[in-house]
Amino acid sequence: MTETAPQTAETNWTGTNWAGNVTFAANELHRPRTPGELRSLVARSTRVRVLGSGHSFNLIAEPGADGVLLSLDALPAEVDVDTTARTVRVVGGMRYAELAGRVHAHGLALPNMASLPHISVAGSVATGTHGSGVRNGSLASAVREVEIVTADGSTVVVGRGDRRFGGAVTSLGALGVVTALTLDLEPDYQVEQHLFTELPLEGLDFETVAGAAYSVSLFTDWTAPGFRQVWLKRRTDQPLADFPWAAPATEPLHPVPGMPAGNCTEQFGVPGPWHERLPHFRAEFTPSNGEELQSEYLLPREHATEALYAIDGIRETVAGVLQTCEVRTVAADEQWLSPAHGRDTVALHFTWIADTPAVLPVVRRLEAVLEPYDPRPHWGKVFEMPAAEVRGRYPRIRDFAALARVLDPAGKFTNDFVRDVLGD
Ligand SMILES: Cc1cc2nc3c(=O)[nH]c(=O)nc-3n(C[C@H](O)[C@H](O)[C@H](O)COP(=O)(O)OP(=O)(O)OC[C@H]3O[C@@H](n4cnc5c(N)ncnc54)[C@H](O)[C@@H]3O)c2cc1C
Repeated sequence: MTETAPQTAETNWTGTNWAGNVTFAANELHRPRTPGELRSLVARSTRVRVLGSGHSFNLIAEPGADGVLLSLDALPAEVDVDTTARTVRVVGGMRYAELAGRVHAHGLALPNMASLPHISVAGSVATGTHGSGVRNGSLASAVREVEIVTADGSTVVVGRGDRRFGGAVTSLGALGVVTALTLDLEPDYQVEQHLFTELPLEGLDFETVAGAAYSVSLFTDWTAPGFRQVWLKRRTDQPLADFPWAAPATEPLHPVPGMPAGNCTEQFGVPGPWHERLPHFRAEFTPSNGEELQSEYLLPREHATEALYAIDGIRETVAGVLQTCEVRTVAADEQWLSPAHGRDTVALHFTWIADTPAVLPVVRRLEAVLEPYDPRPHWGKVFEMPAAEVRGRYPRIRDFAALARVLDPAGKFTNDFVRDVLGD
């Protein structure tokens, strides 16, 4: 993310997201240094949004030219690990890379991670960010409690068991400023990455392939049917399954053809700590390509094979603007606005070239062929689906809108993106 801000505040601020494809406008950008400063800023402002690490590809974080944008990165970077309860309380602005290192130092682990550790915890769970694994929920499923500074500057704590919890974690930033989250941990574990190449689409038994390891990703550039790469992330405390459908990789790989594999986490079955294997990209390098757009659609897992054949049917169109496509799985979760809400999911991800006018028509074509399979777009990525259609795919969206009205009656934390989605 690029920006032009001094340490505390700047008026008429503009800045871009990580990819540089959207520019945010805000009347003021603030970086509060204490929780008290944050609460009084929120209480006296009329429109507020929070910017996490800016890795979303759309205007979900923008407050609008009359609004206040908050960055939490000047607040104390607190991480409290409770080794007995196996939980961690972490401030909202912390990134997974730092959190993972702190948790690992206590001999504990998170259940899963996204493809990169560079993203903030609060921003990730707000959009339903996920890794892969048929039994692994989105990153929000590890959250047991969330602390939110609401419109009047007071703090509301919502934990599992609270009837509001289903709306409180994957909240698109629409309920208030998430200042801290408490996450479930488990004992430390090790992971090995085993990579394979050339998995055909014909005869694909998706359930078996997707369940062949703790976390599985399939990659293709859609220049031919089938997958160029298969990444199996196997926990060393779980059995190593045979993988007879593709050939073991003979050299280290990057998911984007032509990019240096040295930016990726260790491969060839070398065991290592969970946080140095579950993400594809190492914390110290630029993840993915950097010059890109991304889209992703999450659909019921039973439609995986049919949906892959539907994409294969427009393969040349997709390949023309594609860097890589990744197919992952996500277990059903209970967050009302989670794209994996209530259904075991297959997630079809597309890293496009960084050319919005060329990409958007392909996004629309892709959405048309996926439409029969009830796709929910990733909240943090590029999509063209009309808001009413998106809304219709979330059975609890009215409950979320009602919760937002209770916690934020004047709509202080809303923006055009949220207003569109909720239909308010
Ligand atoms: C290279 C790359 C790889 C990616 N890989 C994956 C992946 O593997 N899996 C996946 O699912 N997604 C992936 N994404 C998407 C990414 O995880 C999401 O866009 C995520 O939301 C980014 O987190 P962030 O901190 O940058 O949030 P931002 O983009 O900064 O914000 C997202 C939303 O969260 C809100 N928000 C942020 N912090 C707070 C807070 N403290 N309180 C209230 N609201 C807040 C913002 O207002 C906004 O609405 C990837 C993105 C990139 C660029």
